Amino acid sequence: MLLIDCPYCGKRPEIEFTYGGQAHVARPSDPGLLDDQSWAEYLYMRANTKGVHAERWRHAHGCARFFNALRDTTSDRILATYKTGEPRPQLAADAGSGR
Ligand SMILES: [Zn+2]
Repeated sequence: MLLIDCPYCGKRPEIEFTYGGQAHVARPSDPGLLDDQSWAEYLYMRANTKGVHAERWRHAHGCARFFNALRDTTSDRILATYKTGEPRPQLAADAGSGR
């Protein structure tokens, strides 16, 4: 069983979690100033990273809080988790991932 380390609760079974998309996607401060292309890119365009990818996860069947995780998409291993609002930790695996 895969365990995910919730930054608030500790390690829990993966079935308690839901995927929430790419992390660190900032909402434009004034969307009304964007043209349709820029707004569509914000809404729909995401990285398709091979290697370490920053993702949002939610501990849906636990504390119900969102947090961020660094997952290696080539091995499906979660390398680190951190609270929303905290900076992305740097990992040795980041070197050469081209994020
Ligand atoms: Zn939790």
